[in-house]
Amino acid sequence: MALIPCPRCRKEVSSDAPDCIYCRTPINAAARVLAPTFAPSPGPAPLLSVGPQRVTVTDFDVSFGNLVMLFVKAALAAIPALIILTVIWAAILFTLSFLVLRSIGPLGGSPLLRP
Ligand SMILES: [Zn+2]
Repeated sequence: MALIPCPRCRKEVSSDAPDCIYCRTPINAAARVLAPTFAPSPGPAPLLSVGPQRVTVTDFDVSFGNLVMLFVKAALAAIPALIILTVIWAAILFTLSFLVLRSIGPLGGSPLLRP
C-alpha cells in the first residue's frame, strides 16, 4: 500500500482504494502508474505549492548476489575514509605522545627529547 495523490483533488489517498475518499474520483490503474500531473485539477489549484513528494518503499526486491555486490562496493568506498582517519589519528597520537614525553622531564623522558 502506498499513498498517492488523487488525480482530481490531489489529496493523498491509498493506492489500494478503488476511489478517492474525498472526491470519489476513481483511482484506476492508469492513475496509479501515471502521476496526477496529467489530470486537470478543479478549482483554483495552487500552481507552485505542490508540497513535498513522499515516497513509500514497500518492497525492496533485490537478489542475493546484487545485495552482496552492494555491500562489497560500500566496503570498497569506505577504504579512503579509513585511510584519512588513520592519518588523522596517527597525527593526534604522535602529537600527544610528543607532548607527554617532553613534559615528563629528563629523568623519565626519552633521551632523544632531552635538550
Ligand atoms: Zn480526490
